[in-house]
Parts: sequence; structure tokens; C-alpha cells
Amino acid sequence: MKRFENKVVLITGGNSGIGKASAILAAREGAKVMIADLKLNQQTLDEILQEGTAAAFVQCDVSKPEDMEKAVAETVALFGRLDVALNNAGIVDAAPIHEKTIEEWHKVTSVNLSGVFYGMKYEIAQMRQQPGGGAIVNVGSIMSQVGEIGIAAYTASKHGLVGMTKVAALENGTANIRINTIGPGYIETPLLMDNASAESKAYMESKHAMKRLGKPEEIAKAFLFLASDDASFCTGAYLPVDGGYLCQ
Ligand code: NDP
Repeated sequence: MKRFENKVVLITGGNSGIGKASAILAAREGAKVMIADLKLNQQTLDEILQEGTAAAFVQCDVSKPEDMEKAVAETVALFGRLDVALNNAGIVDAAPIHEKTIEEWHKVTSVNLSGVFYGMKYEIAQMRQQPGGGAIVNVGSIMSQVGEIGIAAYTASKHGLVGMTKVAALENGTANIRINTIGPGYIETPLLMDNASAESKAYMESKHAMKRLGKPEEIAKAFLFLASDDASFCTGAYLPVDGGYLCQ
């Protein structure tokens, strides 16, 4: 029996990187997958479909509450319920606080923090009204625990997400809905690698005990664990998957 047989999984930012790897592994485990992202990526959808039984796309900007509400509603309209959500879409900023624009602050926090709030709001409402509850995994970061120069909006969002996850876990502990945060170290995805020089890649590698970057699939496997019955007594947790980044 596959771990996600007959389960419906919604993944924000599922076109690329960690979200895409998670969608592919969930499909391989039997899930019906809904990708919520800014624009359709047919190649990603085809790759997910090759692994599983059903996959679909809904256009969604997670920073818009009406889009998140629509993403959940369309998932339920198409697949009948929502068992698992991965609130994964995220963007990063790049300037010290005294030089950061107000617009950049709002742009990053509206995706990385408000976007996760909107996601949980509509996902939990659906999970509470269906038999069987559900599981939610929010994508935090090592920057949920420590800081890095230039990314104040990202770091504040990822710290905030851990607190919000704890509150959501407390509110839903008896509703059969588990909610956890996953904390990736630096992972080789377009978000990280698109503008990374060889020097910055070497710096990032050096920060991990394992002296390498992670792969999207290594985060996807932790997502599958937290979203599955294997994690039946885990809720409100922050799970680092970071090659030992937080050890020092
Ligand atoms: P990618 O950039 O590879 O993928 C992110 C996806 O989210 C893209 O498809 C992107 O679309 C989409 N997206 C961006 N903004 C929105 C939005 N407003 N609404 C819906 N979708 C959106 O990133 P990663 O896979 O690296 O990151 C995924 C998550 O993992 C993020 O939350 C990130 O903070 C977190 N993370 C990543 C780490 C890393 O080292 N890569 C480390 C720790 C955490 P488009 O490409 O069109 O912009």
C-alpha cells in the first residue's frame, strides 16, 4: 500500500525546486496532486503525471487571499477533499535593512508569511469539515532559527511561520489535523542557484556540517514523512533538514 493512496495533496509553488520534487514523490506514493503556482508549467505537470494517477494546476498568487481560497476550492471541486497541504511558495530579499525598500519588505512578507496564513486559513477550514482531518506542512528555513545579512524580510517571515505553526497546531490538536514546519538548509533550486557565483556556492556549502548543499528530493522526503501517518504524533514541530547547518 502506497503512503498517499487516494490522498489529495495541494502544493503551493509546486512548479519548481522543493515544491516540484515534493509533488513528484507524493504522486509516486499514490497522491492526486494539485499544483498552485503563478503560471502553468506543463512540463512539471507532465512529469508529475508520469509518476502518478492525477495532477492538475490552479493559477494562484499566494499573497492574494482570494487566490488561496480559490486554490483550495478548486482542489476540492476536482478531487473531492483535501488531505495534505504543502505551503511552500517563497521568495527572497537582498539588501540590508537600512537600504531595503518598504515595497520589498511588503512583497516578501506578503508571500512568505501572509501567504502561509491565507493557505492555512482555507486549508484548515476545509480539513475541519471533512471526515479524516488532514496534515499541513509549512516550508520554513534555517532562517526560521538564525539570521543572514541582507534577508531581514525573509528571516522575519520564516521565524514568524514557526510561531504561526505552533498556534495552528494548538488550535487543531483535537481536530485530527497535524501542522508542522520543515526547515531546509541551502538547497540546490532555482531560487538559490539562479544568481549564485562559485564563490557564494562555496560559502553556502561551508556553512553546513556536511559541507554540501541539499537536494530538493531530500526535503521532499521529509515532507512525505511529516504529511504521512508515520508522523502521527508530530504536530507544531520545526524539523530541520539542513545537513547540520544549525549545529554551530
Ligand atoms: P523555487 O524558486 O525553485 O520555487 C518556488 C516556486 O514558487 C516557483 O515556482 C515560483 O514561481 C513560485 N512562487 C513564487 N511566488 C509565488 C506566489 N506569490 N504565489 C505562488 N507561487 C509563487 O524555490 P525553492 O524550491 O528553493 O523554495 C521553496 C521554498 O523553500 C520557499 O519557501 C523557500 O523559502 C524555502 N527554502 C528554500 C531554500 C533553498 O535553499 N532553496 C532553503 C530554505 C527554505 P516563479 O518561478 O514563477 O516565481
